[in-house]
Amino acid sequence: MNALNIWFLTGSQDLYGDDALHQVALHTKQMVEELNASGNLPLVLVVKPVLKSSAEILKTIQHAEADESCAGVVCWMHTFSPAKTWIAGLSILTKPLLQLHTQFNERIPFDTMDMDFMNLNQSAHGDREFGHITARMGLRRTVIAGHWSHEETQQRIGRWMRSAAAVAESRTLVVVRFGDNMRDVAVTDGDKVEAMIQFGWSVPYFGIGDLVDMMASIPNGDINLLIDEYRHSYTLKEGMDEAFFFQQVTEQARIELALEKFLQQNNAMAFSTNFQDLHGMKQLPGLAVQRLMGKGYGFAGEGDWKIAALVRILKRMGEGLSGGSSFMEDYTYHLEKGAMLDLGAHMLEVCPSISKDRPTLEVHPLGIGEREDPARLVFDGAAGPALCASIIDLGHRFRMVISEVETIDSPHAFKRLPVARVLWKPLPDLITASEAWILAGGGHHTAYSSALDTDYLLTYAEMMGIEAVRIGKGTSIHQLRSELRWNEAYWSGHTRV
Ligand code: MN
Repeated sequence: MNALNIWFLTGSQDLYGDDALHQVALHTKQMVEELNASGNLPLVLVVKPVLKSSAEILKTIQHAEADESCAGVVCWMHTFSPAKTWIAGLSILTKPLLQLHTQFNERIPFDTMDMDFMNLNQSAHGDREFGHITARMGLRRTVIAGHWSHEETQQRIGRWMRSAAAVAESRTLVVVRFGDNMRDVAVTDGDKVEAMIQFGWSVPYFGIGDLVDMMASIPNGDINLLIDEYRHSYTLKEGMDEAFFFQQVTEQARIELALEKFLQQNNAMAFSTNFQDLHGMKQLPGLAVQRLMGKGYGFAGEGDWKIAALVRILKRMGEGLSGGSSFMEDYTYHLEKGAMLDLGAHMLEVCPSISKDRPTLEVHPLGIGEREDPARLVFDGAAGPALCASIIDLGHRFRMVISEVETIDSPHAFKRLPVARVLWKPLPDLITASEAWILAGGGHHTAYSSALDTDYLLTYAEMMGIEAVRIGKGTSIHQLRSELRWNEAYWSGHTRV
């Protein structure tokens, strides 16, 4: 996040004279300095000279577009800024736009205010003029109203910044696919060209043999160092044949080192594997994948590149927040009346960032993929609010589906289940949430996050210009069906010519 910043653009015009414009610049500087010092903003705000004409605005936005460290712009009208002067600049803006509807003074100075004060402090109508032109131009944007010194306002700006950082990540994201998606599976397939146009995701294919070659080049010394790290980080499962255990763990360490090197060489921050395509591999990558997700890489199994990308996007958005994000799959239900639960897991690949306790490193057979017993981390997911999100390709557009959940501590121990798992109550309840998810066409794979809430994802979807459907508190099936139909009408009108 340190490499990114957000430009703060204050609009005005020449009409007010030098003294007033000098005040506007001083106020802007003070606001931005205090906002940056608040500790509530993950990205630095960069103050720009007060903008007074169409030419200045166009040039500034051209520079914002060209600056790779700029992840978006905040616009604020301290005084009245005629919005025709914004049309040229806004028409070339592709980066996220936040209209901060605030004003310099928190309160009306009833006793002292005169017309000079009134002429200087005009955000209430200046921001309406600006808002009008963004509505008229149909721009993707976020509006946050509130005094800039208020904690709630600052936190909302900070949250918007995280979504903007995820957009910057999205524009350059490379997802390495080892093999294609699982044969005959529908939801993991999709239009990769359209994904690149819409999200910026590049999803190149590589043969698994390329990874196998890389594995052969990993020095044994590096593998031994990594195994020492495993010993420090995890509890080793007791009662296993030690020689066999370390032989299997060694193989995963070799995969981890080769995978990371391969991803670095391809500037990739996400990847997918497929158990149907493991030529030359002794094990399905398990521990190796979990470790790389723990380091911030996106991943999804069975060639599910859309979810691999989404896991990376959520990891980027949630950097530094408590909780984590992981690849996930709805596995099996507990349908006891009044106590219904959804058990999420995968064959192996769940990220330890969502773990409740220190994970256990274990080796067990895997009944799929016809390979040796893979090493994996086993743990329970931490309790608390979380979400499961999926991006699907409907053929003519992408849809994000988000399900809000409450993860719980399992009332019973899993004595014989050798994989990481998470047990949650979907909101508003399992029956409604699962019916809604299926009606919306959400996939079986998801990106799970205990670090983020729905707002971050809805803002990201808004910035990317894709449909988003939220399932959570207050959802009813009737309302959701209507929403899906209205969305169909809206998005069907969104074609590129
Ligand atoms: Mn799966």
